[in-house]
Amino acid sequence: MLRWLVLAFWLTGTPSFGQNASRIYTDLQANALKTALLSEADKKVRAFFADQFDQRITAPVILVGTSDPNILNEHLMKALTDLARRQRTSPIDGVKLCDNKKIGAAANRPYIVMCWRKPKVYDDRWRVLTGQKLAPILAHEFTHQLQYDLAGDDPAQRIAGTKKLLLGPSWMIEGSAEVFEQMYKVQVQGKDADDDAAQSLFNMQSPARRSRLTLSDLTPTGSTKGRGAYGTARFAAYLLARRNGPQALFQYFEVLGQVKDRDTAFEQVFGLTFKAYETIFERVRRDFAAATEFAAGETQ
Ligand SMILES: [Zn+2]
Repeated sequence: MLRWLVLAFWLTGTPSFGQNASRIYTDLQANALKTALLSEADKKVRAFFADQFDQRITAPVILVGTSDPNILNEHLMKALTDLARRQRTSPIDGVKLCDNKKIGAAANRPYIVMCWRKPKVYDDRWRVLTGQKLAPILAHEFTHQLQYDLAGDDPAQRIAGTKKLLLGPSWMIEGSAEVFEQMYKVQVQGKDADDDAAQSLFNMQSPARRSRLTLSDLTPTGSTKGRGAYGTARFAAYLLARRNGPQALFQYFEVLGQVKDRDTAFEQVFGLTFKAYETIFERVRRDFAAATEFAAGETQ
């Protein structure tokens, strides 16, 4: 009897999280609007990955959203407790994550945290406008969840016999998340809809043209923090997506989970070693014609 009561409660009393939705945690104040903001974005982002790339996550994902960086960790602790997951060893620096940004966001296993600037008033206009900014960023963070999921990397693993984390290199992790964030803006939100393939390549190349950072500078875990790092990582992953199709970016993480070796996975999916690609990238990053040729698959 008790079992049936529990089941009945579970079916009716909990939000529809699990396979098609993230588990949402947000503030008590303006709770309904904040929940709506997050669940709408979550739904759109999940549909984007499922419809365009056949990518889904069946494991639970926590989505914390708040306007108050000081209670971000409280929400996260509660969410991790509810999932019976280990707590973080140190709290997230909410102020650093949220300050001076319209939307701040971060992902780790198995959660995404997001914050937004507190508006004068919470209303539907706020929900719609903030949702437009938040959704592509959520697509970026959701890519990280797909990476953990595809690589079977929760908890984080190390490459056998080394101290190096399995998931990497850093430019590949951030670069692919950036590519899908951009694709979400273009395909779902209609951004730069008039740009042809050449214009898109030119725009994506611009930050890589200006930055001095090489892909080997952007290989160690966490190294994509520097100036121009994200733009360079984005262009490196974008060129691979243009050459082999965006699906190949997911395949890399999937194969990585199987072979547990970055070089083997990269070579299997892209037909190049990381070393070779680092060299090619330096040759094409500031040269539009050479980059176009590489994207078309005409360079070896
Ligand atoms: Zn990221």
